[in-house]
Amino acid sequence: MIPYGRQTIDDHDRAAMAAVLASDWLTQGPTITQFEQQLAAAVQADHAVVMANGTAALHAACAALGLGPHDYLWTSPISFVASANCARYLGAQVDFVDIDPHTRNICVLALRTKLEQAKTQRCLPKILVAVHFAGKPCDMQVLGALSREFGFAIIEDAAHALGSFYGGRPVGSCQYSVATCFSFHPVKNITTGEGGAVTTRDAMLADKIRKFCSHGITKNPADFVAEAAEPWAYEQHALGYNYRLTDIQAALGISQLQKLPGFVARRQALVDVYQSALADMPLFLPPAKGGDTIAWHIYTIQLHDTQRRLAMFNELRAAGIGVNVHYIPIHLQPYYQRRGFHVGDFPGAEAYYAGAITLPLFPTLTDDEQNFIVHTLRGILCA
Ligand SMILES: *Cc1c(COP(=O)(O)O)cnc(C)c1O
Repeated sequence: MIPYGRQTIDDHDRAAMAAVLASDWLTQGPTITQFEQQLAAAVQADHAVVMANGTAALHAACAALGLGPHDYLWTSPISFVASANCARYLGAQVDFVDIDPHTRNICVLALRTKLEQAKTQRCLPKILVAVHFAGKPCDMQVLGALSREFGFAIIEDAAHALGSFYGGRPVGSCQYSVATCFSFHPVKNITTGEGGAVTTRDAMLADKIRKFCSHGITKNPADFVAEAAEPWAYEQHALGYNYRLTDIQAALGISQLQKLPGFVARRQALVDVYQSALADMPLFLPPAKGGDTIAWHIYTIQLHDTQRRLAMFNELRAAGIGVNVHYIPIHLQPYYQRRGFHVGDFPGAEAYYAGAITLPLFPTLTDDEQNFIVHTLRGILCA
């Protein structure tokens, strides 16, 4: 079966991890700091904090911004559930903004309308999690202007978008947001097995996030509450978690990061082939690329005839093509239905989902495999 996504690991990655295994520090060591510095440099952010996974990154960013039980977090219904769950960990309420059918990202017009309503009802969100679906950045300039007008903070969920650019700058530079969250799960653009990161321009926020991921503890005497600290002292200042990444993983992350531009170039080349090879079929395709580099994480098509989606999915799987669907709208999950959401609440998201299929896309997908996928799809769709 050709999977829809997979990691690309080579001897350089393996050697980097082996070197850490032979060193003194398996965790909380210098390789973590190196990975953080190199990630921050790669995305042009002042600070990067790496951690256990992308979900932890979203949780940490929301906690550091003080999200709590009386607050609202808004996000896109077409995302992985983690984009919404991060609010629930902190007892906050979740609401969604429907998508733009073209980009599959949050619709900025729907957002403005919803913000104006929320303003009159005094229930404006504290945080908007802007998901860069498939790696295509949201319209950050417009979102940034709305965040200033309505007073909410933007967290970018860039789990799909490491390596993408917006307005000439890398996603993660936080030009229009307070923080950007990344995931290094094996299907994402680089991997550390499990792993994630938050990048930010705000030193205080980075510090809070770093503490949050390590029990709320600081070992820095300059931060101590106590006047005269014993040499063995550490202080817990807040309730944190153990969300740490290991140095073994950080070594893999550094090695992977060096290969990111090559991974992105291969993903783009494969997407270019899909876009032209599928153009004449009864499908809605992802948006054409603009001027900026897009680090396509997934390639999702939509059948015009949604009635055929299930049969098509099964036929592709039977042919050895590991198609998937990204995503079941979050508000249709039983957990969110119990929290008061209904079928029909976000028609744009539901219409997208009805026809959606994700085709394989990863750097080591061969031209032959891609040809086979395109031909199989054409055979089924144009039969
Ligand atoms: C993968 C993903 C996450 C969560 O990342 P993990 O590292 O798996 O916890 C969050 N948001 C989106 C959009 C994702 O695709």
